[in-house]
Amino acid sequence: MTTSAAATSNAAISADRTSPSSTGPTSAGTTSSAGTTSAGTTSALPSSRTLEWVNKLVSFDTTSRNSNLQLIHTMAEELTARGLTPVFVPNADGSKANLFATIPAHDGSVTGGIMLAGHTDVVPVDGQDWASDPFTPEVREGKLYGRGTTDMKAFSGVILSLLPELLSRPLAEPLHLAWTYDEEVGCHGAVVLLAEMAARGIHPRLSFVGEPTSMRAVSAHKSSQLYRVSVSGLAAHSSMTSTGVNAIEYAARAIAFIRSLADEHRLSGPFDESFIVPYTTANVGVVEGGVAVNTVADRCDFEFEFRTIPGVNPDAVIARIDDHLGTLRDEIQRENPAANIVLMPLGSVPGLSPEGPREALELAQQLTGSSAEETVVYATEAGLFQRAGIDTVVCGPGSMDQGHTANEFIELSQIAACEDFLRALAAHLAAN
Ligand SMILES: [Zn+2]
Repeated sequence: MTTSAAATSNAAISADRTSPSSTGPTSAGTTSSAGTTSAGTTSALPSSRTLEWVNKLVSFDTTSRNSNLQLIHTMAEELTARGLTPVFVPNADGSKANLFATIPAHDGSVTGGIMLAGHTDVVPVDGQDWASDPFTPEVREGKLYGRGTTDMKAFSGVILSLLPELLSRPLAEPLHLAWTYDEEVGCHGAVVLLAEMAARGIHPRLSFVGEPTSMRAVSAHKSSQLYRVSVSGLAAHSSMTSTGVNAIEYAARAIAFIRSLADEHRLSGPFDESFIVPYTTANVGVVEGGVAVNTVADRCDFEFEFRTIPGVNPDAVIARIDDHLGTLRDEIQRENPAANIVLMPLGSVPGLSPEGPREALELAQQLTGSSAEETVVYATEAGLFQRAGIDTVVCGPGSMDQGHTANEFIELSQIAACEDFLRALAAHLAAN
């Protein structure tokens, strides 16, 4: 599938996009993470200015382990050039920062209003087989390739590109722009940002988180809870097992329990059929332990996560796991009092609940022209914003099917659809 506009170089797409109602061929109808298709979105192209911004943002390697400062300074320069006053909210060691700015309402007010929120970090490309440099974005056949194109720098690029339009008319209520660090490793930046916003008395009424949803309004996602378990036993020659304590064996029993808990949820629920995986899941993703086959292992660490559907309390799930670990701990310490089993939280992202106010959902539906109300199985910062009392939905360009993958891409038509969304928001916000 190609169109005359779906050319292979940036120069070829420098012509401004056609109108949103263009009747050209639509995108290929890729399956989104919510199991739906993106057919029906506009086939128009984003403006060259938007594409330049997205390209610029993708060209910064903001893998979560790196600093994001260069990227956010570039964004802040643009905000400043447009007359805004960006606020940096750094992490503890100053190596990263959130960025925040408010376009006040026509009367100067900064209370209430609408927030557009996104994260600046991306996941690693380590070990992935890319056909092009992940940090040198490239257009091929109507798609923009590069790490972070769909998750989620296109959304940020569209905001920066459309700033002049957002600023061209007096606003009935303020528009807040928020970018965070460390979303991909536990949503740590958003927690710091929310605290700073509260300290400054800024409390948006509504929020749109621009994670990839194929520009459909998403009113619910699962929670994500990450933990590490460290089992310490006692090393011994494997011919003398009675003098050692095998940490791997206790870890294996703990892992088997977590699997049984996952099976219980898979088979007996509770269920929420609005999710493509309609129950709470658990996964052990990392195990490390032992040094040699003829040595009783004195250490074994493993990391696991579980993701709860709305209505399942994560505290109740971890309480059962903790309980089981307590039983195992008693047992291992009967073998040797110095042995231990320790549970450490690594990160927690609250779920986004569809309960409560519907204003953000209804506005997103109005602005996208679609009555869809969907769910996604991945976690986002939206749950944190909702917990802070901000009525929040997830709605952004692209599909998470391509997020985190080698050869990550976003359809150009999705970037254009996001431009339409922000233009509709600007019209909605215009005073009178
Ligand atoms: Zn993301």
